[in-house]
Parts: sequence; structure tokens; C-alpha cells
Amino acid sequence: MTETREKRLRPTAADSDQQLWKAVVARDKTQDGIFYYSVASTGVYCRPSCSARLANRENVRFHTTCEEAETAGFRPCKRCKPNAASLDETHAAIVAAACRLIEQADELPTLADLAGASGLSPFHFHRVFKASTGVTPKAYAVAHRHARVRHNLKQSGSVTEAIHESGFNSSGRFYACSDEVLGMIPSDFRKGGNNAELRFAIGECSLGAILVAASERGVAAILLGNDPTDLERDLRDQFPNAKLVGGDKSFAEIVAKVVSFVEAPGKGLNLPLDVQGTAFQHRVWQALQQIPPGTTVSYSELAERIGKPSAVRAVASACAANTIAIAIPCHRVVRTDGSLSGYRWGVERKRALLDKERKS
Ligand SMILES: [Zn+2]
Repeated sequence: MTETREKRLRPTAADSDQQLWKAVVARDKTQDGIFYYSVASTGVYCRPSCSARLANRENVRFHTTCEEAETAGFRPCKRCKPNAASLDETHAAIVAAACRLIEQADELPTLADLAGASGLSPFHFHRVFKASTGVTPKAYAVAHRHARVRHNLKQSGSVTEAIHESGFNSSGRFYACSDEVLGMIPSDFRKGGNNAELRFAIGECSLGAILVAASERGVAAILLGNDPTDLERDLRDQFPNAKLVGGDKSFAEIVAKVVSFVEAPGKGLNLPLDVQGTAFQHRVWQALQQIPPGTTVSYSELAERIGKPSAVRAVASACAANTIAIAIPCHRVVRTDGSLSGYRWGVERKRALLDKERKS
């Protein structure tokens, strides 16, 4: 916003009318609110971006404010409504109000309710909300509720209390979706994964030692390193209360699959993942999985892709929190200048992985 402000024209004496006229011809939206123009032949005044048919230059005069135009005897144009708040401002206010409604509601508000409160049609409201937040109203509401559940589970005395505090009015409904939210049933989550059993095994791949751990839902960790003992400690740190069980023969097949995937990441890993993290982390990790092998994006690009262009730091943290190496390809994120930034499992491994992917 501040950047564009610098470039804005100001109708001072120094500004030639010629420049203002150019903005009108270009229907330059960045000039809206900066100046207005009136058209003598129609008696109306407009924003520079007005989509009405271009007036003849000799009928056009410029004004700094609406008042000035009105004092000169002009009426506001019905199409561009120069005296109303700009569309962007109106939309921002609508979206902010809808977010408050969602945050304060005990029940997930319906799209019809939210649209009704905004004065827009459900279709239009949905578009406006998505354009400004990057997510649908429903996704926003669900993510907000999930964040509340996770927070409350850690704070509350009981799971039931946490559920009620988070605004789920029946625990049945909560359990119905908790699997997706937490990756574990709620009581497990509170205890840091006490009852979750993780089978794991350590093998070798071209990148060094590799540890693969899986719950019954899917692969929960792929860790890389030099020393098998370090990898096991790392696993324990990540899942402090999970029951770690050495993998049996059938598990060796899973490890073999993961290792062959590491050697040829382009082929994809045909195993389910058991991903645990916040709603935000999930979004980042999903976006990572959409980066094609052998290509890279920057953290700010990734932040844009999830519709949160200003959350670059949070995106970088989510990448760093990934425990499933390669299958969630955080190695495909680099600095804006293209240089390799830190990698949980070492920059050398990151380089090796990208080389491997570019060759295959
Ligand atoms: Zn107009």
C-alpha cells in the first residue's frame, strides 16, 4: 500500500492536467481517492478508474475532493460511486466483519448467514472472502475452530471441557472430525501421543542413515542423518510419549519402499502419510507437495501460494517443523535469490536431493 502511494499522482499545481488525464484514459485504479474528474456535458463526477465511456477531454475538469466537485455543481456518478468508500475498503470491512462473526460464533455460521450479514449474495460473498483471505469462509471457520481445540486441549482440565470451550456443542461431532484435525484421538494428543504406537526402522540410503517411522495410519517420520543413534533420539524428541516399537519383517517392506523413493523421488511415495501439525502447517505442507520434483520455490512464493503473502516467517517455520523428509518436500524451498537455505537434514543433503531430482 505504502509503495503504491509513492507513485500516486497528486493534483497539485505542479501536476499537469495532462498527467491526470492520462490516468483517466488508463482508468488507473491506483489514483482512486486521490483525485476526481467531472464531465461538463453530463454533470457528473467520477473516480479515475470509472468504467463509463471516456468523456471528451475538453469537457473534463479535475478535483481534489468530492466536496470540491459537488461545490462546482456536479453529482456523483452512479456507476463508480466516487463519494462511497472504495470497493477494496468495502470488501476489507466485509471480510473483517465476517471473520469476527466466525470467531465469536458458538456454531459454525452458514454461508447464507455470513453473506446475509454482509449484504452480499452468498456467491458474491464467497468470492470476496476468498479473494481477500486466500481461503473459503468454511476453511477459515474450520481452521479457527481447530486452533481453538488444540489450544484448549492443552489448557483444559478435561477433553470434554476443551470441546465445549472450543464451541463444539456435541462431543460426537468433535470426534467425528478430530482425526483430521489432530491426527490422533484427542486423549492421545493431550498426553503427547501416549497411546500412539510408532513402528520404526533404520536403514541406509545414498544420503546416509535413514529412519522411517509409521503409525497404523501411515508414515509419520522420515529422518535423515549420519548416525543411527542420533536418528532414534530425534524420533523420541519428536514423539516424546509415543510407544516406539522396532519394525518387524513386514515393516522392512515399508522401509524399502521409502528408500527407493528417496533414490528416485520423482516417482512418488505410494504410502499414506500420518501428518500431525497445526492447520496452518498442513496448508504449508500441502503446498510443498504441489511443487514438482526438480523445481524450487522461495519462502515468499510459498507464502503467496497459500494466500498468506505476509506470513513468510511462519511458512519457513512450518517447513522447518516437517518431520517427513522428501515425502513432504521442504527441500524444494530456497531463498529468494535461489541459494539454498538451511535444511533440517543438512544443506548438502538438500543439494544432493535437488540434483537427483533434476537429473531424473
Ligand atoms: Zn463514474
